[in-house]
Amino acid sequence: MISQYNIPTRIFMGEGCVLAKAAELAPLGKKALIVTGRSSAVKSGALADIKAALDANGQEYAIYDSVMSNPTVECVYEGAEKAKSIGADFIIGIGGGSPMDAAKAIALLACQDIPRERLFDGNYDEKILPMAMVPTTAGTGSEATQYSIITNDARKTKTSISSPFMFPTLAYLDSRYLRAVPRNTAVNTAIDAFSHCVEGYLSVRANPITDALAREGMEAISSVFPRLAKGSLTDADRDKLLYASTIGGMVIAHTGTTAVHPMGYSLTYFKGADHGRANGLLLGAFLKSIENRCPERIGDIMTAIGMSGADELSRVLDTLLGGEERREKVTKDEAAYYASVAIKAKNIKNCIVTLTEAELYEIYLKSFGIKV
Ligand code: NAP
Ligand code: FE
Repeated sequence: MISQYNIPTRIFMGEGCVLAKAAELAPLGKKALIVTGRSSAVKSGALADIKAALDANGQEYAIYDSVMSNPTVECVYEGAEKAKSIGADFIIGIGGGSPMDAAKAIALLACQDIPRERLFDGNYDEKILPMAMVPTTAGTGSEATQYSIITNDARKTKTSISSPFMFPTLAYLDSRYLRAVPRNTAVNTAIDAFSHCVEGYLSVRANPITDALAREGMEAISSVFPRLAKGSLTDADRDKLLYASTIGGMVIAHTGTTAVHPMGYSLTYFKGADHGRANGLLLGAFLKSIENRCPERIGDIMTAIGMSGADELSRVLDTLLGGEERREKVTKDEAAYYASVAIKAKNIKNCIVTLTEAELYEIYLKSFGIKV
């Protein structure tokens, strides 16, 4: 079998990388639209560094700071209008996955006339504004993927816009921007990155290079679980998490996600669970349900994270996520509906084990302690 690995994003990593490598932004264009959430770009210090870098290069900019968590279709069309109206010729996304994903969709919509009802059709051409990304959470790896995940109200879920042209040109990883991340967001985002590595390792599209990256990512993230639980991360931990989350992005850029992500989208859409939390609530039961059908692969994962099996991982994730008391309430009917939505997601086919709708239903029941 022929394997291939390619991501076209140039990644700078290390303290002060935005200012040290400011000149790399110069070829991207004359005027940037900076896309951010409400406050984290400022709070993290990333926006100040980007502004200083653009000023040093003599590049103009405007700011679109209205991106909410789980960005909507309205948001990305509004951002694209802003990009067009100011004549932006490149985009900078600063924030967690939500602003970075919105930035990608805005870069696409600023160049292509795509009617709203066709946004998720997948028919895009190569025209897109060049992008630079500055993550301020260690989770999504969006800075190294070709995906933009947008809330899809028409289908009551979240849907990925994907294009080989949607990889950012540049990514700047400076873990100082993560210092202000609250404990629960740090946990949720770390679990998201962990899930990318695990799902990527269990994908039919995995190859030896993504496997190596996935094992490295899982090992790095799980080594930080104890201090994530206590909310006592060190600067070295944040370095590790940011590095590992970008690796997770590099993995899913090739493998896609499998069952956990599409199953989690309903928990976000209907229960308001943060993206990473939604994955974490399901991951243990998912692994348990396929443990006997791909023992070697699950064994590799457990070796990488130093755990005995899916049951131990479930207990660790449960502790990180605050246990039963904090868990969202899901009914049997809701679980059945969520399973019927998830089974239609295209990612499900990436899983090395073929899962049925009934099995997805059981994973929901197990995850939420619902008796059959
Ligand atoms: P997020 O929705 O981007 O951010 C969550 C919260 O954290 C927001 O309130 C945000 O504040 C805050 N925050 C961000 N950085 C902070 C900082 N440094 N200090 C303090 N607070 C900070 O969450 P996320 O988990 O990073 O991203 C989730 C989104 O990414 C979902 O839509 C998910 O579907 C998507 N995703 C994309 C990919 C991909 O490949 N593209 C992969 C996985 C997930 P502000 O509101 O002020 O920004
Ligand atoms: Fe994710």
